[in-house]
Amino acid sequence: MTSSEDAIMQLRDVWKAYRVGDIITWALRGINLSVLRGDFISIMGPSGSGKTTLLNVLGLLDRPTKGKVYVDGLDVSTVSPDELARIRNRKIGFVFQQFNLVARMSVYENIELSLIPARVPAARRREMILRALKSAGGEVEWLTKKPTQLSGGQQQRVAIARALVNNPEIILADEPTGNLDRASASVVLRTFLKLNRGGQTIIMVTHNPEVANCTNKIYLISDGVITGIRTPSRGECIALEGNV
Ligand code: ADP
Ligand code: MG
Repeated sequence: MTSSEDAIMQLRDVWKAYRVGDIITWALRGINLSVLRGDFISIMGPSGSGKTTLLNVLGLLDRPTKGKVYVDGLDVSTVSPDELARIRNRKIGFVFQQFNLVARMSVYENIELSLIPARVPAARRREMILRALKSAGGEVEWLTKKPTQLSGGQQQRVAIARALVNNPEIILADEPTGNLDRASASVVLRTFLKLNRGGQTIIMVTHNPEVANCTNKIYLISDGVITGIRTPSRGECIALEGNV
């Protein structure tokens, strides 16, 4: 069975179990999801409902216990681990709640860490890093700073730049505004909206309805099951002028 043509990613009846000792937890219980090219999707649900597991499966970081994952119509269970890593590195960028920047490295080095292939000439590397930082709403002056010299909102913009540096087709973001104040959250969502208008596909987990309302579609998840799809009310998006 192949997947539908216009979906950049597709999950078919995906189940995921974690085993700790004798205890098995079913984090995902039959997820069906099609992500269209250029989609901006949010995922909402209580803590422990399987949101991070779902992102990890979509991000090819974790394999489902049961069910299929398709990327551009390709069943990823049929590819080698090397090929899987290659697809992940080129196609997918990750953004996390805790930024996950390396404290002892400069902003430049943090973004450079994700840059592939490794043999890009120095001048071209700098160009790619600068372009990513600019797309993420960051500033050139930050390049020589350490992450701790920046505010939380600025650090998240660096983390977004790191996610963008290889020009991925898909951004996966796990509660990217969870540690940010309103103003910084608004900046992050403005950046995501701009990227999405440029064709970037974005899938974002959030607890904040004003953040979810900036997306095109809200999936509700509970106990590892998609329980509903909600249409966002764009008037209540945190990135709108006047809503901050
Ligand atoms: P959410 O992101 O919605 O808070 P998670 O996907 O992190 O939910 O977790 C879903 C369920 O799976 C929870 O019951 C959690 O305890 C369990 N779980 C997640 N990751 C692991 C793991 N690595 N090992 C064992 N259990 C896990
Ligand atoms: Mg989570």
